[in-house]
Amino acid sequence: MQEDKNEAQMLAEAARLRARDLAVLWHPCTQMAEHPDALPLVPIRRGRGAWLEGVDGHRYLDAVSSWWTNLFGHGEPRIAAAIARQAQELEHVIFAGFTHEPAVLLAESLLRVAPPGLARVFYADNGSAAVEIALKMSFHAHLNRGDSKRRRFVALENGYHGETLGALSMGDIPLYRRTYAPLLLTPLFAPSPDAYDAAPGETAEQCALRRADQLLALFEDNEGEICALILEPLVQCAGGMRMHHPAYVRRAREICSAHGAHLIADEIAVGFGRSGTMFACEQAGITPDFLCLSKGLTGGFMPMSAVLTTSDVYEAFLDESRDRAFLHSHSYTGNPLGCAAALASLSIFQSEPVLEKNRITAGRMAALAEPLRAHPHVADVRQTGMILAIEVVAHRATRRHYDPREKRGLRGYRHALDNGVLLRPLGEVLYWMPPYCIDEAALQQLARITTGAIERMTD
Ligand code: PMP
Repeated sequence: MQEDKNEAQMLAEAARLRARDLAVLWHPCTQMAEHPDALPLVPIRRGRGAWLEGVDGHRYLDAVSSWWTNLFGHGEPRIAAAIARQAQELEHVIFAGFTHEPAVLLAESLLRVAPPGLARVFYADNGSAAVEIALKMSFHAHLNRGDSKRRRFVALENGYHGETLGALSMGDIPLYRRTYAPLLLTPLFAPSPDAYDAAPGETAEQCALRRADQLLALFEDNEGEICALILEPLVQCAGGMRMHHPAYVRRAREICSAHGAHLIADEIAVGFGRSGTMFACEQAGITPDFLCLSKGLTGGFMPMSAVLTTSDVYEAFLDESRDRAFLHSHSYTGNPLGCAAALASLSIFQSEPVLEKNRITAGRMAALAEPLRAHPHVADVRQTGMILAIEVVAHRATRRHYDPREKRGLRGYRHALDNGVLLRPLGEVLYWMPPYCIDEAALQQLARITTGAIERMTD
Protein backbone atom coordinates (compact mmCIF):
# COMPACT_ATOMS: atom_id res chain seq x y z
CA MET A 1 0.00 0.00 0.00
CA GLN A 2 1.26 3.43 -0.98
CA GLU A 3 0.05 4.84 2.37
CA ASP A 4 2.42 2.54 4.28
CA LYS A 5 5.49 3.77 2.49
CA ASN A 6 7.74 6.32 4.13
CA GLU A 7 8.75 9.51 2.41
CA ALA A 8 12.14 8.22 1.28
CA GLN A 9 10.54 5.19 -0.35
CA MET A 10 7.98 7.33 -2.13
CA LEU A 11 10.62 9.70 -3.43
CA ALA A 12 12.69 6.76 -4.66
CA GLU A 13 9.67 5.25 -6.39
CA ALA A 14 8.89 8.55 -8.12
CA ALA A 15 12.51 8.85 -9.27
CA ARG A 16 12.45 5.31 -10.66
CA LEU A 17 9.23 5.92 -12.58
CA ARG A 18 10.61 9.17 -13.95
CA ALA A 19 13.75 7.42 -15.20
CA ARG A 20 11.78 4.56 -16.77
CA ASP A 21 9.48 7.07 -18.47
CA LEU A 22 12.35 9.08 -19.89
CA ALA A 23 13.89 5.89 -21.28
CA VAL A 24 10.85 5.01 -23.41
CA LEU A 25 8.30 7.81 -23.65
CA TRP A 26 7.82 10.94 -25.68
CA HIS A 27 5.42 13.51 -24.16
CA PRO A 28 3.08 15.93 -25.93
CA CYS A 29 3.70 19.65 -26.16
CA THR A 30 7.15 19.17 -24.63
CA GLN A 31 10.76 19.80 -25.51
CA MET A 32 12.00 16.48 -24.17
CA ALA A 33 15.54 17.85 -23.83
CA GLU A 34 14.29 20.01 -20.95
CA HIS A 35 13.04 17.06 -18.99
CA PRO A 36 15.73 15.38 -17.05
CA ASP A 37 16.83 18.51 -15.19
CA ALA A 38 15.08 21.78 -15.99
CA LEU A 39 11.60 20.33 -15.83
CA PRO A 40 11.29 17.14 -13.79
CA LEU A 41 8.34 14.93 -14.73
CA VAL A 42 5.65 14.60 -12.09
CA PRO A 43 4.49 10.98 -11.69
CA ILE A 44 0.88 10.83 -10.51
CA ARG A 45 -0.72 7.79 -8.92
CA ARG A 46 -4.23 8.97 -8.19
CA GLY A 47 -6.70 11.80 -8.67
CA ARG A 48 -9.42 12.80 -6.22
CA GLY A 49 -11.66 15.82 -6.69
CA ALA A 50 -9.61 18.87 -7.64
CA TRP A 51 -6.42 17.16 -6.47
CA LEU A 52 -3.76 14.97 -8.04
CA GLU A 53 -1.69 12.74 -5.78
CA GLY A 54 1.94 12.25 -6.73
CA VAL A 55 3.85 8.98 -6.48
CA ASP A 56 6.23 10.98 -4.27
CA GLY A 57 3.42 11.61 -1.79
CA HIS A 58 2.91 15.28 -2.75
CA ARG A 59 -0.51 16.63 -3.69
CA TYR A 60 -1.18 19.04 -6.55
CA LEU A 61 -4.24 21.20 -7.04
CA ASP A 62 -5.25 20.69 -10.68
CA ALA A 63 -6.01 24.33 -11.52
CA VAL A 64 -6.09 23.56 -15.26
CA SER A 65 -8.48 20.58 -15.06
CA SER A 66 -5.85 18.44 -16.80
CA TRP A 67 -5.87 20.27 -20.12
CA TRP A 68 -9.41 21.54 -19.58
CA THR A 69 -10.96 18.09 -19.67
CA ASN A 70 -12.15 17.53 -16.12
CA LEU A 71 -15.50 18.87 -14.96
CA PHE A 72 -16.58 17.31 -11.67
CA GLY A 73 -13.26 16.27 -10.20
CA HIS A 74 -10.86 13.40 -10.63
CA GLY A 75 -12.23 10.00 -9.68
CA GLU A 76 -15.84 11.25 -9.76
CA PRO A 77 -17.48 8.04 -8.48
CA ARG A 78 -20.65 8.15 -10.61
CA ILE A 79 -18.68 8.45 -13.85
CA ALA A 80 -16.13 5.84 -12.75
CA ALA A 81 -18.93 3.41 -11.89
CA ALA A 82 -20.72 4.01 -15.20
CA ILE A 83 -17.56 3.15 -17.14
CA ALA A 84 -16.97 0.04 -15.03
CA ARG A 85 -20.56 -1.12 -15.56
CA GLN A 86 -20.37 -0.53 -19.29
CA ALA A 87 -17.04 -2.37 -19.53
CA GLN A 88 -18.75 -5.51 -18.20
CA GLU A 89 -21.36 -5.37 -20.94
CA LEU A 90 -19.82 -4.07 -24.14
CA GLU A 91 -16.44 -2.39 -24.32
CA HIS A 92 -16.55 -1.62 -28.03
CA VAL A 93 -18.25 -2.54 -31.25
CA ILE A 94 -17.74 -1.43 -34.84
CA PHE A 95 -19.99 1.59 -35.40
CA ALA A 96 -20.56 1.11 -39.14
CA GLY A 97 -23.62 -1.06 -39.57
CA PHE A 98 -23.93 -1.61 -35.80
CA THR A 99 -25.23 0.48 -32.95
CA HIS A 100 -25.76 0.33 -29.19
CA GLU A 101 -27.96 2.01 -26.63
CA PRO A 102 -25.33 4.24 -24.95
CA ALA A 103 -24.54 5.85 -28.33
CA VAL A 104 -28.23 6.44 -29.07
CA LEU A 105 -28.98 7.75 -25.60
CA LEU A 106 -25.99 10.07 -25.67
CA ALA A 107 -26.97 11.54 -29.05
CA GLU A 108 -30.52 12.09 -27.76
CA SER A 109 -29.19 13.69 -24.59
CA LEU A 110 -26.72 15.96 -26.39
CA LEU A 111 -29.38 17.19 -28.80
CA ARG A 112 -31.66 17.97 -25.86
CA VAL A 113 -29.11 20.28 -24.21
CA ALA A 114 -27.51 21.72 -27.36
CA PRO A 115 -28.68 24.95 -29.00
CA PRO A 116 -32.00 24.41 -30.84
CA GLY A 117 -31.84 23.33 -34.48
CA LEU A 118 -29.05 20.79 -34.17
CA ALA A 119 -30.38 17.38 -35.13
CA ARG A 120 -27.54 14.93 -35.85
CA VAL A 121 -24.53 13.65 -33.93
CA PHE A 122 -21.32 12.25 -35.44
CA TYR A 123 -18.82 10.78 -32.97
CA ALA A 124 -15.03 10.71 -32.98
CA ASP A 125 -12.36 10.32 -30.34
CA ASN A 126 -10.60 13.65 -29.81
CA GLY A 127 -11.04 17.35 -30.40
CA SER A 128 -8.83 17.63 -33.47
CA ALA A 129 -10.76 14.82 -35.14
CA ALA A 130 -14.02 16.67 -34.43
CA VAL A 131 -12.62 19.75 -36.16
CA GLU A 132 -11.46 17.68 -39.14
CA ILE A 133 -14.94 16.20 -39.41
CA ALA A 134 -16.67 19.59 -39.31
CA LEU A 135 -14.33 20.99 -41.99
CA LYS A 136 -14.78 18.00 -44.28
CA MET A 137 -18.53 17.84 -43.74
CA SER A 138 -18.90 21.51 -44.52
CA PHE A 139 -16.95 21.28 -47.77
CA HIS A 140 -18.70 18.06 -48.75
CA ALA A 141 -22.18 19.38 -47.97
CA HIS A 142 -21.64 22.34 -50.29
CA LEU A 143 -20.29 19.98 -52.95
CA ASN A 144 -23.27 17.66 -52.63
CA ARG A 145 -25.54 20.67 -53.10
CA GLY A 146 -23.79 21.34 -56.40
CA ASP A 147 -21.51 24.12 -55.17
CA SER A 148 -17.92 23.13 -55.91
CA LYS A 149 -16.54 26.67 -55.65
CA ARG A 150 -16.65 26.82 -51.86
CA ARG A 151 -13.21 25.57 -50.90
CA ARG A 152 -11.89 28.11 -48.44
CA PHE A 153 -12.32 28.40 -44.72
CA VAL A 154 -12.22 31.51 -42.60
CA ALA A 155 -10.56 31.27 -39.20
CA LEU A 156 -9.69 33.86 -36.59
CA GLU A 157 -6.30 35.27 -35.77
CA ASN A 158 -5.03 33.88 -32.47
CA GLY A 159 -7.38 30.90 -32.76
CA TYR A 160 -6.55 27.27 -32.01
CA HIS A 161 -8.36 24.15 -33.16
CA GLY A 162 -6.00 21.22 -32.64
CA GLU A 163 -2.88 19.60 -34.01
CA THR A 164 -3.79 17.32 -36.91
CA LEU A 165 -2.99 18.96 -40.23
CA GLY A 166 -6.48 20.21 -41.06
CA ALA A 167 -7.19 21.43 -37.53
CA LEU A 168 -3.72 22.93 -37.24
CA SER A 169 -4.34 24.77 -40.52
CA MET A 170 -7.20 26.65 -38.88
CA GLY A 171 -5.02 27.76 -35.98
CA ASP A 172 -2.99 30.93 -35.83
CA ILE A 173 -0.57 30.30 -33.00
CA PRO A 174 2.93 30.51 -34.47
CA LEU A 175 4.43 28.13 -31.90
CA TYR A 176 2.32 25.28 -33.26
CA ARG A 177 1.76 26.40 -36.83
CA ARG A 178 4.98 27.80 -38.21
CA THR A 179 7.01 24.57 -38.50
CA TYR A 180 4.29 22.79 -40.45
CA ALA A 181 3.13 25.81 -42.46
CA PRO A 182 4.35 24.33 -45.79
CA LEU A 183 1.97 21.40 -45.28
CA LEU A 184 -1.13 23.31 -44.24
CA LEU A 185 -4.34 24.57 -45.80
CA THR A 186 -4.40 28.34 -46.03
CA PRO A 187 -7.58 29.74 -44.52
CA LEU A 188 -8.46 33.39 -44.67
CA PHE A 189 -7.66 34.79 -41.26
CA ALA A 190 -10.01 37.45 -39.87
CA PRO A 191 -8.89 39.74 -37.04
CA SER A 192 -9.60 38.41 -33.57
CA PRO A 193 -12.42 40.17 -31.71
CA ASP A 194 -10.27 39.88 -28.56
CA ALA A 195 -11.41 42.56 -26.10
CA TYR A 196 -7.83 42.94 -24.81
CA ASP A 197 -7.04 44.60 -28.14
CA ALA A 198 -9.90 47.10 -27.89
CA ALA A 199 -8.93 50.64 -28.85
CA PRO A 200 -8.68 53.17 -26.01
CA GLY A 201 -12.18 54.05 -24.82
CA GLU A 202 -13.77 51.28 -26.86
CA THR A 203 -16.00 48.75 -25.07
CA ALA A 204 -15.65 45.00 -25.61
CA GLU A 205 -18.88 45.08 -27.58
CA GLN A 206 -17.76 47.95 -29.80
CA CYS A 207 -14.50 46.15 -30.43
CA ALA A 208 -16.39 42.96 -31.32
CA LEU A 209 -18.65 44.80 -33.76
CA ARG A 210 -15.72 46.59 -35.39
CA ARG A 211 -14.03 43.25 -35.90
CA ALA A 212 -17.28 41.78 -37.25
CA ASP A 213 -17.32 44.53 -39.90
CA GLN A 214 -13.87 43.37 -40.96
CA LEU A 215 -15.15 39.80 -41.08
CA LEU A 216 -18.00 40.93 -43.31
CA ALA A 217 -15.57 42.66 -45.66
CA LEU A 218 -13.58 39.44 -45.93
CA PHE A 219 -16.71 37.50 -46.87
CA GLU A 220 -17.63 40.15 -49.45
CA ASP A 221 -14.15 40.04 -50.97
CA ASN A 222 -14.39 36.26 -51.33
CA GLU A 223 -18.02 35.95 -52.30
CA GLY A 224 -19.12 32.41 -53.08
CA GLU A 225 -15.78 30.83 -52.15
CA ILE A 226 -16.15 30.31 -48.42
CA CYS A 227 -17.21 26.94 -47.00
CA ALA A 228 -17.30 27.90 -43.37
CA LEU A 229 -16.07 30.17 -40.62
CA ILE A 230 -14.57 28.37 -37.65
CA LEU A 231 -14.21 30.06 -34.28
CA GLU A 232 -13.93 29.41 -30.56
CA PRO A 233 -16.96 31.22 -29.15
CA LEU A 234 -16.19 33.69 -26.31
CA VAL A 235 -12.73 32.46 -25.34
CA GLN A 236 -9.67 31.80 -27.50
CA CYS A 237 -8.22 29.39 -24.99
CA ALA A 238 -4.83 28.24 -26.29
CA GLY A 239 -4.34 31.77 -27.64
CA GLY A 240 -3.90 33.01 -24.06
CA MET A 241 -7.48 32.83 -22.74
CA ARG A 242 -8.34 35.92 -24.78
CA MET A 243 -12.04 36.75 -24.48
CA HIS A 244 -14.55 38.52 -26.68
CA HIS A 245 -18.07 39.87 -26.48
CA PRO A 246 -20.90 37.56 -27.64
CA ALA A 247 -21.98 40.25 -30.12
CA TYR A 248 -19.19 39.00 -32.37
CA VAL A 249 -20.55 35.47 -32.44
CA ARG A 250 -24.03 36.82 -33.14
CA ARG A 251 -22.80 38.89 -36.09
CA ALA A 252 -20.64 36.01 -37.32
CA ARG A 253 -23.78 33.85 -37.45
CA GLU A 254 -25.62 36.52 -39.47
CA ILE A 255 -22.70 37.00 -41.84
CA CYS A 256 -22.31 33.26 -42.49
CA SER A 257 -26.05 32.86 -43.14
CA ALA A 258 -26.18 35.87 -45.44
CA HIS A 259 -23.25 34.56 -47.47
CA GLY A 260 -24.24 30.91 -47.70
CA ALA A 261 -21.40 29.69 -45.51
CA HIS A 262 -21.48 27.42 -42.47
CA LEU A 263 -20.55 28.45 -38.97
CA ILE A 264 -18.42 25.95 -37.05
CA ALA A 265 -18.42 26.58 -33.30
CA ASP A 266 -15.44 24.90 -31.68
CA GLU A 267 -16.66 24.46 -28.09
CA ILE A 268 -14.15 21.71 -27.40
CA ALA A 269 -12.67 23.75 -24.54
CA VAL A 270 -15.57 25.99 -23.51
CA GLY A 271 -18.51 23.57 -23.74
CA PHE A 272 -20.30 21.90 -20.83
CA GLY A 273 -20.63 24.87 -18.53
CA ARG A 274 -17.10 26.21 -18.71
CA SER A 275 -18.22 29.53 -20.20
CA GLY A 276 -20.93 30.06 -17.57
CA THR A 277 -23.70 28.61 -19.75
CA MET A 278 -23.95 25.02 -20.94
CA PHE A 279 -22.60 26.13 -24.31
CA ALA A 280 -20.97 29.45 -25.11
CA CYS A 281 -23.16 29.88 -28.21
CA GLU A 282 -26.14 30.34 -25.89
CA GLN A 283 -24.73 33.67 -24.73
CA ALA A 284 -24.89 34.88 -28.31
CA GLY A 285 -28.34 33.34 -28.79
CA ILE A 286 -27.23 31.44 -31.88
CA THR A 287 -27.10 27.93 -33.29
CA PRO A 288 -24.04 27.04 -35.36
CA ASP A 289 -24.18 24.66 -38.32
CA PHE A 290 -21.56 22.51 -36.58
CA LEU A 291 -20.89 22.29 -32.87
CA CYS A 292 -17.60 20.53 -32.00
CA LEU A 293 -17.44 19.01 -28.53
CA SER A 294 -14.81 17.00 -26.67
CA LYS A 295 -12.76 17.40 -23.43
CA GLY A 296 -15.57 17.86 -20.85
CA LEU A 297 -17.91 15.67 -22.91
CA THR A 298 -16.99 12.65 -20.77
CA GLY A 299 -16.39 14.68 -17.62
CA GLY A 300 -12.68 14.27 -18.38
CA PHE A 301 -12.65 10.47 -18.18
CA MET A 302 -12.47 9.16 -21.73
CA PRO A 303 -11.15 10.44 -25.06
CA MET A 304 -14.23 11.18 -27.09
CA SER A 305 -15.65 13.91 -29.29
CA ALA A 306 -18.87 14.70 -31.08
CA VAL A 307 -19.87 16.93 -33.96
CA LEU A 308 -23.46 18.09 -33.85
CA THR A 309 -25.00 19.37 -37.05
CA THR A 310 -28.31 20.29 -38.68
CA SER A 311 -30.81 18.26 -40.70
CA ASP A 312 -30.00 20.51 -43.61
CA VAL A 313 -26.35 19.40 -43.63
CA TYR A 314 -27.28 15.76 -42.98
CA GLU A 315 -29.76 15.64 -45.83
CA ALA A 316 -27.20 16.89 -48.32
CA PHE A 317 -25.45 13.51 -47.92
CA LEU A 318 -28.45 11.26 -48.51
CA ASP A 319 -28.28 9.58 -51.90
CA GLU A 320 -27.80 6.25 -53.58
CA SER A 321 -24.20 7.12 -54.41
CA ARG A 322 -21.46 6.29 -51.89
CA ASP A 323 -19.50 9.34 -53.10
CA ARG A 324 -22.09 11.56 -51.55
CA ALA A 325 -21.88 9.79 -48.19
CA PHE A 326 -19.62 10.98 -45.41
CA LEU A 327 -17.13 8.12 -45.35
CA HIS A 328 -14.89 9.57 -42.62
CA SER A 329 -14.37 6.96 -39.93
CA HIS A 330 -12.33 6.23 -36.83
CA SER A 331 -12.04 2.73 -35.37
CA TYR A 332 -13.26 3.87 -31.98
CA THR A 333 -16.23 5.90 -33.25
CA GLY A 334 -19.07 5.80 -30.72
CA ASN A 335 -17.01 3.87 -28.16
CA PRO A 336 -19.49 2.59 -25.53
CA LEU A 337 -17.18 3.37 -22.60
CA GLY A 338 -16.90 6.98 -23.75
CA CYS A 339 -20.67 7.16 -24.26
CA ALA A 340 -21.28 5.75 -20.76
CA ALA A 341 -18.91 8.31 -19.23
CA ALA A 342 -20.56 11.13 -21.16
CA LEU A 343 -24.05 10.00 -20.13
CA ALA A 344 -22.99 9.87 -16.48
CA SER A 345 -21.49 13.34 -16.78
CA LEU A 346 -24.63 14.75 -18.43
CA SER A 347 -26.80 13.18 -15.74
CA ILE A 348 -24.86 15.15 -13.11
CA PHE A 349 -25.94 18.31 -14.94
CA GLN A 350 -29.51 17.05 -14.64
CA SER A 351 -29.43 16.03 -11.00
CA GLU A 352 -27.47 18.97 -9.61
CA PRO A 353 -27.63 22.73 -10.14
CA VAL A 354 -24.15 22.69 -11.69
CA LEU A 355 -24.35 26.01 -13.53
CA GLU A 356 -25.79 27.80 -10.49
CA LYS A 357 -23.08 26.41 -8.22
CA ASN A 358 -20.50 27.42 -10.80
CA ARG A 359 -21.80 30.98 -10.72
CA ILE A 360 -20.99 31.11 -7.03
CA THR A 361 -17.56 29.55 -7.56
CA ALA A 362 -16.88 31.93 -10.44
CA GLY A 363 -17.82 34.82 -8.17
CA ARG A 364 -15.30 33.61 -5.58
CA MET A 365 -12.64 33.31 -8.30
CA ALA A 366 -13.34 36.92 -9.32
CA ALA A 367 -13.13 38.17 -5.74
CA LEU A 368 -9.90 36.31 -5.02
CA ALA A 369 -8.27 37.61 -8.21
CA GLU A 370 -9.43 41.18 -7.63
CA PRO A 371 -6.32 42.30 -5.67
CA LEU A 372 -4.12 41.18 -8.58
CA ARG A 373 -5.59 43.91 -10.77
CA ALA A 374 -3.44 46.45 -8.96
CA HIS A 375 -0.24 44.46 -9.37
CA PRO A 376 2.43 46.47 -11.22
CA HIS A 377 3.03 43.56 -13.61
CA VAL A 378 -0.59 42.63 -14.31
CA ALA A 379 -2.11 44.26 -17.38
CA ASP A 380 -5.47 42.50 -17.29
CA VAL A 381 -7.60 40.15 -15.22
CA ARG A 382 -10.45 38.74 -17.31
CA GLN A 383 -13.07 36.10 -16.77
CA THR A 384 -15.71 34.16 -18.64
CA GLY A 385 -17.56 31.77 -16.35
CA MET A 386 -15.17 29.23 -14.87
CA ILE A 387 -12.16 30.58 -16.79
CA LEU A 388 -10.15 33.36 -15.20
CA ALA A 389 -6.96 34.69 -16.79
CA ILE A 390 -4.25 37.04 -15.58
CA GLU A 391 -2.08 38.76 -18.17
CA VAL A 392 1.39 39.21 -16.73
CA VAL A 393 3.55 41.80 -18.53
CA ALA A 394 7.01 43.32 -18.27
CA HIS A 395 5.59 46.82 -18.42
CA ARG A 396 2.05 47.57 -17.38
CA ALA A 397 1.51 50.93 -19.09
CA THR A 398 2.66 49.74 -22.52
CA ARG A 399 1.59 46.10 -21.90
CA ARG A 400 4.96 45.00 -23.22
CA HIS A 401 5.60 41.31 -22.70
CA TYR A 402 8.87 39.82 -21.54
CA ASP A 403 11.27 38.34 -24.06
CA PRO A 404 9.98 34.76 -24.53
CA ARG A 405 13.57 33.50 -24.27
CA GLU A 406 13.49 34.46 -20.60
CA LYS A 407 10.86 31.75 -20.05
CA ARG A 408 9.11 33.71 -17.33
CA GLY A 409 6.05 31.48 -17.59
CA LEU A 410 8.17 28.46 -16.73
CA ARG A 411 9.27 30.19 -13.54
CA GLY A 412 5.62 30.60 -12.57
CA TYR A 413 4.89 26.97 -13.42
CA ARG A 414 7.75 25.73 -11.26
CA HIS A 415 6.91 27.99 -8.35
CA ALA A 416 3.31 26.77 -8.36
CA LEU A 417 4.34 23.12 -8.64
CA ASP A 418 6.79 23.46 -5.76
CA ASN A 419 3.86 24.77 -3.75
CA GLY A 420 1.36 22.09 -4.65
CA VAL A 421 -0.52 23.75 -7.50
CA LEU A 422 -0.62 22.77 -11.16
CA LEU A 423 -0.72 26.04 -13.11
CA ARG A 424 0.36 25.92 -16.72
CA PRO A 425 0.85 29.46 -17.98
CA LEU A 426 0.24 30.15 -21.66
CA GLY A 427 3.28 32.32 -22.28
CA GLU A 428 2.88 34.79 -19.45
CA VAL A 429 -0.85 34.35 -19.08
CA LEU A 430 -1.70 32.58 -15.86
CA TYR A 431 -5.16 31.12 -15.77
CA TRP A 432 -7.53 29.28 -13.49
CA MET A 433 -9.76 26.66 -15.08
CA PRO A 434 -10.34 24.30 -12.15
CA PRO A 435 -12.68 21.32 -11.78
CA TYR A 436 -16.11 22.61 -10.81
CA CYS A 437 -15.86 20.91 -7.41
CA ILE A 438 -12.99 23.11 -6.21
CA ASP A 439 -13.70 24.29 -2.66
CA GLU A 440 -13.07 27.58 -0.86
CA ALA A 441 -9.85 26.44 0.85
CA ALA A 442 -8.40 25.27 -2.46
CA LEU A 443 -9.44 28.50 -4.17
CA GLN A 444 -7.69 30.52 -1.48
CA GLN A 445 -4.57 28.41 -1.86
CA LEU A 446 -4.77 28.90 -5.62
CA ALA A 447 -4.95 32.68 -5.26
CA ARG A 448 -2.07 32.73 -2.77
CA ILE A 449 0.21 30.57 -4.90
CA THR A 450 -0.73 32.48 -8.06
CA THR A 451 0.34 35.71 -6.39
CA GLY A 452 3.65 34.05 -5.49
CA ALA A 453 4.04 32.75 -9.05
CA ILE A 454 3.58 36.28 -10.41
CA GLU A 455 6.30 37.52 -8.05
CA ARG A 456 8.64 34.78 -9.26
CA MET A 457 7.83 35.55 -12.90
CA THR A 458 8.47 39.25 -12.57
CA ASP A 459 11.37 39.57 -10.14
N1 PMP B 1 -10.15 23.03 -30.21
C1 PMP B 1 -9.93 23.70 -29.08
C2 PMP B 1 -10.64 24.99 -28.86
C3 PMP B 1 -9.04 23.21 -28.12
O1 PMP B 1 -8.81 23.91 -27.01
C4 PMP B 1 -8.42 21.96 -28.36
C5 PMP B 1 -7.47 21.33 -27.37
N2 PMP B 1 -6.80 22.14 -26.52
C6 PMP B 1 -8.69 21.29 -29.56
C7 PMP B 1 -9.56 21.85 -30.46
C8 PMP B 1 -8.04 19.97 -29.88
O2 PMP B 1 -8.51 18.95 -29.07
P1 PMP B 1 -7.61 17.64 -28.87
O3 PMP B 1 -6.42 18.06 -28.07
O4 PMP B 1 -8.50 16.69 -28.14
O5 PMP B 1 -7.24 17.14 -30.22
